Formats: sequence, C-alpha cells, structure tokens
Amino acid sequence: MLYVSTRGKTEPVPSAQAIKMGIAPDGGLFVPDRSVQITAKQLAKMAGTPYRQLAQTILEPFLSDFSAEEVRTCVAHAYSSVTFAAPAVAPVIRLGDGLYVLELWHGPTCAFKDFALQILPQLLSRAVAKTGGREKIAVLVATSGDTGKAALEGFKDVAGTSIIVFYPAEGVSAVQKLQMVTQEGGNVHVIGVQGNFDQAQSGVKEIFGDKAMREEAGRCGYRFSSANSINWGRLLPQIVYYFFAYLDLLARGELAAGEEINFVVPTGNFGNILAAFYARQMGLPVHRLILAANRNNVLTEFIRTGVYDRNRPFYKTISPSMDILISSNLERLLFACTGRDAEKVAAWMTELREKGRYRVDGATHAKISALFWSASADDNETMAAIRDTYQQYNYLIDPHTAVGMHVYNRYLQATRDFRKTIIASTASPFKFNQSVVQAIWGAEAVRQKSEFELLDFLTRETGLSIPPGLRDLNKKPVRHTRTVRPEDMSRAVRDILCG
Ligand SMILES: *Cc1c(COP(=O)(O)O)cnc(C)c1O
Repeated sequence: MLYVSTRGKTEPVPSAQAIKMGIAPDGGLFVPDRSVQITAKQLAKMAGTPYRQLAQTILEPFLSDFSAEEVRTCVAHAYSSVTFAAPAVAPVIRLGDGLYVLELWHGPTCAFKDFALQILPQLLSRAVAKTGGREKIAVLVATSGDTGKAALEGFKDVAGTSIIVFYPAEGVSAVQKLQMVTQEGGNVHVIGVQGNFDQAQSGVKEIFGDKAMREEAGRCGYRFSSANSINWGRLLPQIVYYFFAYLDLLARGELAAGEEINFVVPTGNFGNILAAFYARQMGLPVHRLILAANRNNVLTEFIRTGVYDRNRPFYKTISPSMDILISSNLERLLFACTGRDAEKVAAWMTELREKGRYRVDGATHAKISALFWSASADDNETMAAIRDTYQQYNYLIDPHTAVGMHVYNRYLQATRDFRKTIIASTASPFKFNQSVVQAIWGAEAVRQKSEFELLDFLTRETGLSIPPGLRDLNKKPVRHTRTVRPEDMSRAVRDILCG
C-alpha cells in the first residue's frame, strides 16, 4: 500500500513516510492509493471481535510496510487496560429502540482524540526508525485545551520523541490546565503562552516554517513533527471503532447481518466523520452519515449547497472542540468524491486560500449530499438536548454529543428514516461538567462552584464515578510552571532541545 497526495504533485510513499511527513510536500493530504475491502461474508464472521484484535485486522493492510508484530505492539500499547478504563474500549450503549451511543471517551483524557493520539506516537517512533532517521522527533503542539493533553498522554516516555505543548495561559479551563501542568513523563514539556490560542498557534507555525530553527534543531539531534489531525496516522485508527460498533451490535443480535445503519458524528475538523466514510467505503453497511455541527455550521451549509464559505463570524460555543471554520480533512472527501481528481481539488483549495470560498461541481455535490445529511444546533438547543436525554433515558451526555442528539432528532423529523442509528459520543460529560450540570439542574446549581466541586456534584447526583483522568487532579503535584511571551516561544524550544 502506498500513499498519494490529494493534490497529485508528490511521488507515492509508504505509510511510514506518510506518517513521518504528516502533510505532503505539495500541500495536499496523504490518502491510500488503493481500496481495502471487507466483504459481507467476512464481516458476518467478525461479529463480536474484541477491540485490539479488530484494530490489528483493520490497520494491517494500510500499514503494509510495518510488520504484523509491529502493528500488534503498537495496538497493545495504545488500547490496553491501563489506557482505556472500559474493558470493551469503545462501549456501545443502547438508549432506546434503534438508538445507540458509541462511547469514545474511556481513554486517558476522556475524549475521542485518545483513540488516535494513543497510537500515533507508537507508529511515528517506528516510522522514523524504519525510514532510516537517526534524529529524535520533537513534537510541537499548540492547543486550545483537549488536543494538548491527549498528545502529552500519547507521547509520554515514547522512545525517540520529545513533546512540547503550548497553551494560552489564561485561555483554558481549570481542569484542562491542571490536566496539562501535572503531566508526568521524562520527555514532556508544557508551557503557558501569555496570549491567546491564535498567538500560540501562530508561534508554533512560525517555528515549523523557520529554516534556521529547523537546522539548529537538527544540529541538536531533532526533527520537528506535528500531531495534527491531518496526519494519516491520526485518521486511520478512527476507522476501527465504526467497525467495532457495528460488529458489537451484530454479536448482540441488535443487528441482522448486512443491515444498514446510520452514524451521527459531532464534527469540527471533519476527521472523525471522514473515518466513518472510509469505513463505509471498505464495506461497512452504512446508509447515511449525519454530520452534526454547532453554530459554526460551515459544513452544514456545504453539504446542503455545495458551497464552502469560511467568510463568516466565528462563534465561541459550549462545544468548543467543534469551533472550527476550516475543516482541513474535507479535502480527502473531495478527492474521493471527484473520482480522485487532484487537479480539481487543488484548484478548490487555492480558491479557499485566496477567497475563503469555493463551490464544488454538481456531480461531486450530488454524491456528497446523497450520503451525508447535516443540521446544526445552537447553544440553547444543545442544553435542551442534554436535559431531554437525561430525562428520557437517564443518560448523561456532554455538549458535543448533545449537538449530535439534537441533529439526530432533526434528521428523524425530516426523513422519517427509522433505521438503527449510532451516535458517536466524543467526550465524557464529566469533562464539560459546567454545561451538563447547568442544563439538568439549572443555573443555581453551578453558581459559585469550581469545576472540581461540580465533578463531585455530578457524582453525587448520578452515582457515576469520576473518570480516572479527571480524578484528584487538584491534588496532583504541578510539574510545569513555565510561561513565556509569544515572541519567546522559539527561544523556549531552543532551550529545551539544545539546552
Ligand atoms: C475534536 C473533537 C470533535 C471534532 O472532531 P473532528 O474530527 O475535528 O471533526 C468533537 N468533539 C470533541 C469532544 C472533540 O474533542
């Protein structure tokens, strides 16, 4: 299996190269050069396959330059009983007739990004060794909260890597900040930036783009890399849980062999739902992919009209991990739906860069709108969905998942399609406890309570236990206290790598 660029101007490379490079030199994204098919007969036989074994089966053909043993080791590291608190890894909960929730938040940081960021470092360190690199990898991350912690957990103590995370010192929640500044591990560095997220992100981009800086890091034995969600090594692992959910329901007799289902996916950067699209292309019986957006609904409009237009206000919402106006991974979908027309894709991406807007051709839009359906939820609708779900099913959902629940109800009203449906639940309700408590118990219940008091409140009220990754956070020793001005970020990197 080789990987080609969606912009068509890069020589095909094996998976280790694609993962090491992250983005293709022509600015495109790497995609597999051929399809992997799982037949209906094979699927039926795979019912109930345990998560790790399934991951091995799904990942292997895409990582053909890795040995089976290497894949097995990576998978075992990533999805162990130490990293994932739930024995099933990704439990599928039945809420009501034909409605299921796929809980993707039992990993160390309580959000679905753990599925990718637990295994990417394992793949990356082997990819470097495999491609003859002698340098160590220095991973730089700018985070608005969740990605930084997930990357730290994934890279901690991984041989041949160092990770430096920059977060806006005053721009993350108390829980998010404590999750990062208490991070353990011998190769981890966490630095507060005296500025906002955009400044932290620009700082990291500048370091990546600075040739002198790259050379200096090289002299100190390092090569920069990113844990960005456009890396194929982050997308690939997400395909596994769509198969897992289906096969789990098959084994439980909730689905008949070959029965088509729908998935609802709360979406920001289009990574998670793209993995569902790839699963369908591989043969998973999926009828519709329902894309749930918050008030930043650039993708909802795109699916309905075929026009992608980022020239719009940016809203801060209570589902912050979906507050995104440029959904980078969409480029991979366009490549697939144009019949792999790299020239077309490159032209649209140029329009996006220059005008902030492009319109796909009618045939491409027809393909996309036949498979995807989309609507959005504002903050009030999100809060109502949290409350209604708790009242109707006695089940707690976080604001991102609640966007999915609202959009699913809209889908039912619009289509009367009562096929069985699985909602991807992307974060633990404990992680976004303030919105959850307020939605169910009212504004009075959150008044003057810290996030830690709210965790205790949620436990008391629901009888659910606080996830390990959030437990006793305020009692752990703080290990990272450094803050820098945005203009001093590159000096901090130099100190760490060459100091
Ligand atoms: C990142 C994230 C999303 C959005 O996922 P994409 O792959 O960017 O579409 C949704 N929910 C949560 C909790 C997230 O952390």
